Amino acid sequence: MRQSLVVGNWKMNGSTASIQALLEGLKQGMGKIQRAAVGVCPPFVYLQQVSTLLAGSQISWGAQNVSHEAPGAFTGEVAANMLGDFKCKYVIVGHSERRSLYGESDELVAKKCAVVQAAGMIPILCVGELLQEREAGQTETVVKRQLDAVIRMNGVDSLANAVIAYEPVWAIGTGKSATSQQAQDVHAFIRQQIAQHSANVAQKVQILYGGSVKGSNAEELFAMSDIDGGLIGGAALKADEFLTICQAAK
Ligand code: PEP
Repeated sequence: MRQSLVVGNWKMNGSTASIQALLEGLKQGMGKIQRAAVGVCPPFVYLQQVSTLLAGSQISWGAQNVSHEAPGAFTGEVAANMLGDFKCKYVIVGHSERRSLYGESDELVAKKCAVVQAAGMIPILCVGELLQEREAGQTETVVKRQLDAVIRMNGVDSLANAVIAYEPVWAIGTGKSATSQQAQDVHAFIRQQIAQHSANVAQKVQILYGGSVKGSNAEELFAMSDIDGGLIGGAALKADEFLTICQAAK
């Protein structure tokens, strides 16, 4: 059985003071979280603070992005080994905001997965379709293309040490979540696609749903058989709301 996982993607939000308050709230409420593993992904500059505040707690942490390059002359970039220095467990890779605002291709995302794993961390590989792609009936084609790029470059076994997040782009930050059935259908499709290469990896890999998950809709989404938890944006910035989501994990 796969363990549920709920990860907060704080995006470009937070300050030293707000992060301290948020993490204190989360740590206080963690006693109520029985089933889910929990993680948070702050902006890079707060990793030191987050790692200090969360050391010895039940909450893991990670980064929101990484360079595909080894250390060197890449001004403004952050290499995977640097994230390892801060004991990141996870690195979000290929978030739709990276793909759409910063032009990250499927191949670049696959390379990033590889460098994260080579540095001993777990990539959270984000996949998902745009609204116009869904409306054109291309959801499966798009998700398969994004997934296949990783399988082609890194092999299916690499997914045994990865987390996948299905995040329909039209549901991210819009307040309009996919229905539990819409999400389940794509999660099942993803698992099926992986099973064509390895039934074992397909059974093992955690597939999270992301896109306007809130305290009020988490339980219904997480109850679906192929939804193993969530990648949470806006609602991860409020301790009570995030804890309610974590409690909804099966
Ligand atoms: C996200 O950024 O990964 C996300 C799912 O955002 P939100 O929960 O705010 O839709």
